Amino acid sequence: MFSDTLPELLNANRFIDAQEAATAVLEPKHYQRLSQVATLLPGGQITLTGRRDPFGPRVVEGRVKCSVEMTCQRCLETVTYELEGMIGWGLVFSELEMQSLDKQFDPILVVEGQLRLREAVEDELMLLLPMMPMHQACDSGWKPQAEDVDAPSAERESPFSVLSQLKNEQGS
Ligand SMILES: [Zn+2]
Repeated sequence: MFSDTLPELLNANRFIDAQEAATAVLEPKHYQRLSQVATLLPGGQITLTGRRDPFGPRVVEGRVKCSVEMTCQRCLETVTYELEGMIGWGLVFSELEMQSLDKQFDPILVVEGQLRLREAVEDELMLLLPMMPMHQACDSGWKPQAEDVDAPSAERESPFSVLSQLKNEQGS
């Protein structure tokens, strides 16, 4: 369904009716908006499938996976992130449909039968980027300062605890 590289536009109905999984690579130079905040590395991949529920919206689902380089906000060196996200688009053909779309889908407006595929994927990638790109532990001899320790992350190990572990190991 796709050639090697993700196309800019997709004929929405033809893709939905085909109901086939299509895989494509993300060409970094196609994502200019993203490139202002992160460097998309070659090798990013996306898989998409179309389907139509009898009484529901036309849906494009899939998964996108890529690596980006960003600038660490602590040491200003490059930090690499693996991004992976699920896609669940509900196709809408008018503003009115957008309002009535089931909330489990992200609305994607189809204009003149075409879905702006790269733009929609770029939106997804922007949402996957970390708000504050940072190494888990910077190599550059950076030491935590008291005012930085006020917002520990509950979900993952705090970079500060990694640093203090390293310090303890060196001390023993
Ligand atoms: Zn860093």
